Amino acid sequence: MSELREEVTKVSGSRAEIPPYASIPHVSTAIFARALHWHPQGLQSWSLSDWACALAGETGELCNVVKKLNRNRDGLIGNKETPEQLQAALGDEIADVYVYLDLFARRAGFNLEDVVRKKFNEVSLRNGFGQRL
Ligand SMILES: [Mg+2]
Repeated sequence: MSELREEVTKVSGSRAEIPPYASIPHVSTAIFARALHWHPQGLQSWSLSDWACALAGETGELCNVVKKLNRNRDGLIGNKETPEQLQAALGDEIADVYVYLDLFARRAGFNLEDVVRKKFNEVSLRNGFGQRL
């Protein structure tokens, strides 16, 4: 963690705080266990396109919140929510997207952590950056 903090400080020029995160494998296990309440036959009971639609639906909800934040930015009318409510809603939608992305990856036969690590490291290497997962 301290190596990452030093790297962020070097790149950003400020002492950014990096809070500790629960490990992705732990989160993924909980997401999967909870999903089995809705899908007791397993994630295979939904097709890959069912999971993709769920993920896209949550992504759309996230974009709708961003649209409303943009209205605030641009001084436009139409929002029923306060900026604070929209910020909270944005966090909720980020979480929803994460959960469905994890389930989609699992249903597609991937471990989310593994594919993120592989792709992150490929992009870092391709661009000459030192960060690796
Ligand atoms: Mg949602």
